[in-house]
Amino acid sequence: MSKNQLLSIILPIHNEEENIEPLYERLAKVCQKNQINYEIIFVNDGSNDQGLQRVLHLQKKDSRVKAIDFSRNFGHQIAISAGMEFAKGAAVLVMDADLQDPPEMIPKFVEKWKQGFDVVYAIRKNRKGSPLKRIMYKLYYRILNKLADLDMPLDSGDFRLFSRRAVDRIIQFGEKRRYLRGLSSLIGFDQIGIEYDRPQRRAGKTKYSYRKLFNLAWEGVTALSIKPLRVATYLGVTVAFIAVAYMIRVFYMRLFTDTYIPGWSSLMTVLLLLGSVQLICIGIIGEYIGRTAEEVRDRPLYIIRKIYEKES
Ligand code: UDP
Ligand code: MG
Repeated sequence: MSKNQLLSIILPIHNEEENIEPLYERLAKVCQKNQINYEIIFVNDGSNDQGLQRVLHLQKKDSRVKAIDFSRNFGHQIAISAGMEFAKGAAVLVMDADLQDPPEMIPKFVEKWKQGFDVVYAIRKNRKGSPLKRIMYKLYYRILNKLADLDMPLDSGDFRLFSRRAVDRIIQFGEKRRYLRGLSSLIGFDQIGIEYDRPQRRAGKTKYSYRKLFNLAWEGVTALSIKPLRVATYLGVTVAFIAVAYMIRVFYMRLFTDTYIPGWSSLMTVLLLLGSVQLICIGIIGEYIGRTAEEVRDRPLYIIRKIYEKES
């Protein structure tokens, strides 16, 4: 990177007050050591702690620290989007603020970018955390890749570097529900992954509960694929075949045997099964209608209370 090329580092924060200073220290150290010209953009996503104050305190020492303060909590993915729109760098790096994404990796990202890659993403080699979560993550990425007609890298998160043209393209994607990993695969260009060990978060608790994780996962599926809609059709066809086979049996018994069939249990089974299958399918269709409605409403993605930026 020639010395005047700027690297924008985007850090979404939601109740991360304890992590902000250590994070800044490590970031600044790495950048100085490698002569990286940086701006650090904290996006305060409706924190209820002193996070923003701590950021502003840093800004007094270092005018390259900037802050976007949301009017409320809009969510991690949207916070990243806001940071991307605001970033002025020739390259933009997105990372978590809890030090699960080690700043010491930055030179490696920058090196790949210098070689001409547009998206450099980190691949989690060994996930820490509960084994159940780990298995779910692995399974999920594999299923998503099958569903989306895309070659999304497995086991990569939002820890990524984007070239200027990649960021510009991602900003152009207008969808309201953002799934950055998906968008960043959709744009194409030259992409490469680098492996790393993901440590535990430094302080505080994860903001992703199982419910939120499930939502993000479902988001990924519905944002990238309409195949779930086809499930209804497949199920319908399958059930139709079974029904025809069963009808043949029923007629056969009625015409050629004297067997008496009480039939209450089989009736109930079929009824309940069909009923639940129909409800699931309606739910899936509803999900996509909901997405359409959201896009049509065209609400702003986020609302900013204030931008803190010092003239430098
Ligand atoms: N985050 C955010 N808004 C939210 C939830 C999380 O900006 O509503 C930020 C959070 O502060 C952190 C990053 O997103 O910097 C990743 O969140 P977290 O560490 O909780 O996710 P995990 O690493 O557990 O997947
Ligand atoms: Mg984390």
